Amino acid sequence: KPMENRITDIGPRHFEEFYPEVIKKNKGKWSHHEILEPGVLVHVAESGDEVYTVRVGGCRLMSTTHINEICEIAEKHCDGHLRFTTRNNIEFMVDSKDKVEPLKNDLKSRKFPGGSYKFPIGGTGAGVTNIVHTQGWIHCHTPATDASGTVKATMDVLFDDFQQMRLPAQLRVSMACCLNMCGAVHCSDIAILGYHRKPPMIDHEYLDRLCEIPLAISACPTAAIKPAKVTLDDGKEVKSVEIKNERCMFCGNCYTMCPSLPLADTEGDGIVLMAGGKVSNRISDPKFSKVVVAFLPNEMPRWPSMTDAITKMVNAYSNGANKYERLGDWAERIGWEKFFEVCELDFTHHLIDDFRQQAYMSWRQSTQFKF
Ligand code: SF4
Ligand code: SF4
Repeated sequence: KPMENRITDIGPRHFEEFYPEVIKKNKGKWSHHEILEPGVLVHVAESGDEVYTVRVGGCRLMSTTHINEICEIAEKHCDGHLRFTTRNNIEFMVDSKDKVEPLKNDLKSRKFPGGSYKFPIGGTGAGVTNIVHTQGWIHCHTPATDASGTVKATMDVLFDDFQQMRLPAQLRVSMACCLNMCGAVHCSDIAILGYHRKPPMIDHEYLDRLCEIPLAISACPTAAIKPAKVTLDDGKEVKSVEIKNERCMFCGNCYTMCPSLPLADTEGDGIVLMAGGKVSNRISDPKFSKVVVAFLPNEMPRWPSMTDAITKMVNAYSNGANKYERLGDWAERIGWEKFFEVCELDFTHHLIDDFRQQAYMSWRQSTQFKF
């Protein structure tokens, strides 16, 4: 009785109401699954029932027209059912093999006026799947870079690997537009992280009227903010705050609490690239991503330096890794110093691999760096 004791007057309706019949019938009784080809999976139940899934990439921002089209496809082929994955892929599920080809053909036939696929099939197995990402300039207030632009530019250069499974293992790419990291950048094979490099600007004139000063002070994780009395240009004394710049780690938490502490800055903001993280414990334990490119400027609209560095990493990994080795496993096997060499990335003293010790010396002591 799934609906029992569930409050239903708030939030979305319970997801169990939306199961396709075959999923409802076989819930918890699945025998196995396999990837039949890039973007197509089959799940087989103990009862012998089968569910075929065709996975397509979702776009970063969807219009209602696009969503209507997705629903129309689901109505036509899948009895009105579809699901969105956590990586913003769309999965169309059918309950017999003979329904797969008509569904695929329909998806492939839908194109934008320029000829590109509206619903590219792929994103499974040893390839690249859609990027887990955050909100960027359009929807959040603290980003140091954009999400839509960086995700689109990156997926454009990795698109072949979305449609194929030619890589040694999965390559998970994620993106977070500030170091609050709403995305999974701390544990992804390749991660794009927006990074501020300047402390917040203080708008003394409005601060006391817009913000609760104690709240702004307590929002700072490094205790960099303290209350202050400030004299404005017109001689008026107002309550405001002071920021100890050397304590600031540019996280933007104070701006979340106080709109008079903005920290977006054209020169200061940009991108950090990280690599080698994963959540799987296959071959080796889960790993955190490591910083491999300390800073790249925001190069709208296509971020060429960023996509160039990502392409080099993917190509070097694709050429050098053993089957099933994730990017981090490969880098550790060949040695991180070799990783920088084969990926044609500069190694600098800003790139440390052991966060428990002081920066600038720890990489020398690590067992993973032998420079
Ligand atoms: Fe906002 Fe930062 Fe999250 Fe991006 S990562 S959506 S800037 S809090
Ligand atoms: Fe503190 Fe972060 Fe604001 Fe800097 S940006 S003052 S570290 S809350």
